[in-house]
Amino acid sequence: MATPILTIVVPCYNEEEVLPETVFRLSGVLDALISDKLVASTSTMLLVDDGSKDATWSLIERFHASNTFVTGLKLARNAGHQSALLAGLMQAKTYSDCVVSIDADLQDDTDAIREFVVKFREGYDIVYGIRQDRSADTFFKRATAQGFYKMMTSLGVKIHYNHADFRLMSKRTLDNLEKFQEVNLFLRGMVPLLGFPSTQVYYDRKERFAGESKYPLRKMLAFAFDGITSFSVTPIRFVTLMGFVLFLLSVVAGVYAIIGKLLGANVTGWTSLVLSVWFIGGVQLLALGLIGEYIGKIYKEVKQRPLFVIEKALKGSAQEQDEIQ
Ligand code: UDP
Ligand code: MG
Repeated sequence: MATPILTIVVPCYNEEEVLPETVFRLSGVLDALISDKLVASTSTMLLVDDGSKDATWSLIERFHASNTFVTGLKLARNAGHQSALLAGLMQAKTYSDCVVSIDADLQDDTDAIREFVVKFREGYDIVYGIRQDRSADTFFKRATAQGFYKMMTSLGVKIHYNHADFRLMSKRTLDNLEKFQEVNLFLRGMVPLLGFPSTQVYYDRKERFAGESKYPLRKMLAFAFDGITSFSVTPIRFVTLMGFVLFLLSVVAGVYAIIGKLLGANVTGWTSLVLSVWFIGGVQLLALGLIGEYIGKIYKEVKQRPLFVIEKALKGSAQEQDEIQ
C-alpha cells in the first residue's frame, strides 16, 4: 500500500482560545506520523472556520502562513457544527486517502489519531473513536447523553455508544457519504448506514482545553431532536398508536355514558368530562406538532438549499499538486 495522504478536519466556531494549542498538538501528531512513514508527507490539517465572530479566521490565516501543515476553509456564515464538518470532509476528500474529524477543543485525544491510521492501514474504512472515560464531562451531560444513546438504540437507529464526531473515514466512505442529500445532518447516524468495514478505538474524554462549549443546552436538545426525527418514525407511530387506544377507550366510555343516561343515572362527572376534553385536545396537539415536525423536514429537504457557502480556501501542498496534474 502506498503511504496514504491524511487530512485532519477541524470545525472551529469562535475557538481563538484553543486554536493555537490545537494546531500545535495536531502538528505534532502529523509530524510523528510522517516521520514514521505511516502517512504521506503531504498530509495536512484543514481548519474550517464556521462563521466565527472572533479572531479564529485571522489565526488560521496566520498559521497557514507559518505552518505547512495548516490549511483553511472559511464558511461565509455560521452553518452549524455538522454542516461545517461536512464542508471540511468534502473538501478534504478531493485530495486525501483518509480523513480524520476532530473537535477543536481538544476534548478528544489527539494521540488516538495514530491508532486510527494504523487501523486504516489494516484495511478498515471507518474507525470510530469511542469515549471510554467521560468523567471530565458534567454529570448532566453524561446522563443526558446516555439517555439519548439508549433512546436512539431503542428506536432502532444504529449509532455507536459514546461516539461523537471523532472518527476516521476513507475516501470511498466519503464519496458515498456525499450521495446523502440530507439537510438535517446527523453524521454519527449517517456514517454507520454506509456499512464499510469499521472498527473502534477507545480513548479518554478530556475537559475542554479552553473557551466555552458551543453547544448550550438549547442547541444540544435541538441536535438530539433532529437526530431522532431524522432517523426514526417511531415517535409518530407511537402517537398514532396512542390515538388509536384513546379512540377505543372513548368508545367504551361513550357506551358507558349512554347506558347510564338510559338508566336515568345522574349527570355527574362534569369534571371528568372537561378533563377528558382537555386531555384529548392535548394529545391531538401533540400529534399535530409531531406531524408538523416531519412536514417541516420534508419542506427543508424539498428546498435543497446548499448546506454551506465557501468564501475562501487556503490550500496546502497536496491540493496544489493536485491542481498541477
Ligand atoms: N462548532 C462549529 N459550529 C457551531 C458550533 C460548534 O463548528 O455552530 C464546533 C466547535 O468549534 C467544536 C465542535 O464544533 O470544534 C464541537 O463543539 P463543542 O466542543 O462546543 O461542543 P461540546 O463538546 O460541548 O458538545
Ligand atoms: Mg467539546
